[in-house]
Amino acid sequence: MDIKRFLNLPSILEAKNVLCVQPHPDDNEIGAGGFLSILKEKGARITFVTVTDGRKGLPTRKITHEELVKIRDEEKKKAGEILGVKEFIDLAFEDGGDYTIEELTEKLIKIFRNVKPELVLTVDGWLPYEAHPDHVKTGKAVASAVLFARNLSLPELGDPFSINQIAFYASAFPNTYIDITNYWENKIKAIKEHKSQFDNSNWPFMEKFFYDQSKEWYREGKEKNAIESVAGKLPDEGLAEAFKVLSIWELHMFPKAIFN
Ligand SMILES: [Zn+2]
Repeated sequence: MDIKRFLNLPSILEAKNVLCVQPHPDDNEIGAGGFLSILKEKGARITFVTVTDGRKGLPTRKITHEELVKIRDEEKKKAGEILGVKEFIDLAFEDGGDYTIEELTEKLIKIFRNVKPELVLTVDGWLPYEAHPDHVKTGKAVASAVLFARNLSLPELGDPFSINQIAFYASAFPNTYIDITNYWENKIKAIKEHKSQFDNSNWPFMEKFFYDQSKEWYREGKEKNAIESVAGKLPDEGLAEAFKVLSIWELHMFPKAIFN
């Protein structure tokens, strides 16, 4: 059953209030910088929630963790502004720390009920071989918070609010592709604001990797007839971002969700 058609859910390109939850500063730009550039142009309200402080994002002892936290906070704001982010919420858990999915879920429910987004974006916590605990915990906590934000339980966290859809980036099972060909430069500009992470000799390799991946997603999206665009006609070649978009109904007891 095509549950999204059954529920008559709108394209994620129509979202006017979007909340993006990232494990570390820079994940939202890498995963969805093109899509968010489109939403910015359409005047959507975009909020970033950053789960950890990113203190372990450099393999060097030359600067302290505290210094890096400050640097990454500034980079996150500059990059977010390029993507039209109006509000930044920092949960400030320690990067790679021992916080639990349940703790994070509670914090997110409160934020979701307050911001009332139609669409929540995050990393896919079920990505096979994902070895970073912050990514696994964040993806799973966001899905749980979407499920429980509308629940009558936990009244101390605000009034129940129902979020229509969740979109996972960095997913092994994408079902929605967004044409970002005309927004590629803006995405790269935002990523490059994370100088502590990308202003180094690895950048040419990273940029090529991002580019080639987006090219492949475009082709894949066209093949599956699952690509959406604000540009009208789609040429043969282009660049896309890939998402696993699920409705709230697919987040519980729904084995087919992996194929949807
Ligand atoms: Zn990350």
